[in-house]
Amino acid sequence: MSSVRVRFAPSPTGALHIGGLRTALYNYLFAKSNHGKFVLRIEDTDQARLVPGAEDYIYEALDWLGIAVDESPRQGGDFAPYRQSERLEIYHKYAMQLVEEKKAYYAFDSADELQAMRNRLKAAKAANQQYNAITRVSMSNSLTLPANQVDDMIANGVPYVIRLKIPLKEDIRFEDRVRGWVKVHSSTLDDKVILKSGGFPTYHLANVVDDHLMKITHVIRGEEWLPSAPLHVLLYRFFGWENSMPEFSHLPLILKPDGNGKLSKRDADKQGFPIYPVNWTDPQGVHSTGFRESGYLPETIINFLALLGWNPGGELELFSRDDLEKAFSLDRIVKSGAKFDIDKARWFNQHYLRQKPVEELSEYLSAALLQQGLHSSTDKIRMVVELLRDRIVFPQDLLEQGRIYFVAPAQYDQQVVNKKWNREVASVLNQFSESISACSQWNHEIAHNQLEKVLEKAGWGFGKILPGLRLALTGMGKGPDLMKIMELLGKTETIERLNHAIERLEPIPQSTNDDQEKT
Ligand code: GLU
Repeated sequence: MSSVRVRFAPSPTGALHIGGLRTALYNYLFAKSNHGKFVLRIEDTDQARLVPGAEDYIYEALDWLGIAVDESPRQGGDFAPYRQSERLEIYHKYAMQLVEEKKAYYAFDSADELQAMRNRLKAAKAANQQYNAITRVSMSNSLTLPANQVDDMIANGVPYVIRLKIPLKEDIRFEDRVRGWVKVHSSTLDDKVILKSGGFPTYHLANVVDDHLMKITHVIRGEEWLPSAPLHVLLYRFFGWENSMPEFSHLPLILKPDGNGKLSKRDADKQGFPIYPVNWTDPQGVHSTGFRESGYLPETIINFLALLGWNPGGELELFSRDDLEKAFSLDRIVKSGAKFDIDKARWFNQHYLRQKPVEELSEYLSAALLQQGLHSSTDKIRMVVELLRDRIVFPQDLLEQGRIYFVAPAQYDQQVVNKKWNREVASVLNQFSESISACSQWNHEIAHNQLEKVLEKAGWGFGKILPGLRLALTGMGKGPDLMKIMELLGKTETIERLNHAIERLEPIPQSTNDDQEKT
């Protein structure tokens, strides 16, 4: 059994988006490829920003993709609880340990006092307005106030926070697996609050304490957390845990499709693609359609996300979850931002949809038709699926493109009518309709032979009749093989549709277009 333990540690402050999902996937794949454990920890210490439903949403999204976790608030595990709001005593204990060791201190400054400090520093044109080794000496904290006064204030319930006592001159270095050595000087950091006045820890304290206690070996998370990492390293140092500190890998940013800046929900909305894994309605009632509901398959999203920041090397782009569980490695995570190319996701979807058994797609189409009150035979549904499966990107395209084979066209594409319909076309189709009514059998070959005969008589080629034939049968200008369409419609329906079009369509006086369709 490997000792690798990784975690996905989302804050339930909104819907998990595609970037968070990628972090979850990379952690999962890394755990799998190392026979390690994948932990889900809910970081809900910022109580003011909690969004109802956001935690359930995380499970729903992971379940949809089949990303199984080994330990979580729901499943429990050896290091439970896994929800930070249930671990407050633990954080309190560690914060107190730092206070006792003089690595942290109580600060009683009110919001007004903090603002006054910032104003003072601004007026003095100081480089920054931080609460730090220089400014802390003039503030109201346990480093400046007499010990008995501090005790009294605490006993009297004066609100306080606990701040980290960041050393003035210390180098903080760590090696990020993706970015290499990161070096920061402690003078750039401020005395971060680690315990808030309500008794809740801040992210930094809770995150480091939990990663340590939960024996996390690798931290794999988004690049936006890179600036926090030096502070975390310092916390590990303060606690004396630096030797067993997890290894960091910060994943590259996900960029807009044109590579110009970070991808946002607004970009996705503007360009009409999803950003959330499954449907989400935010607390203001704004609804966003998920990848799942838009028709993307889990296989697609896994493959797509895996390549959004991880370069397998070589030409191969199609990776199943099984492949990835074996092949994934931190060494191939790329440093530069990953462009979000929705066309690529569509391409994957088309591929994975084609791999689905005809039965599965037929069941889907059958159910979709039923929902519209349309019944049909299994055979016909299957034929439609076979006809369309190479032409669709999403399962719902089956209904959209296939509906016409179950219901006669209610209208005809007027542009196609204008360009392709005329008296001669109507007359040839009429002859065709009459000729096939005599056929005792029916399939695409018979349909083809009959049409050929009629065309020979008229002295026409196939290309001249096919657009009008398609228009009459489907109301449209484009679509799959017409002979197959006639086979699946059946002889009677083919005749009915032809006659209906001939009666209904106003022939335009002359042939205005000689665009021809190939057989
Ligand atoms: N709670 C943080 C988040 O929401 C976790 C960051 C980390 O993985 O350390 O993403």
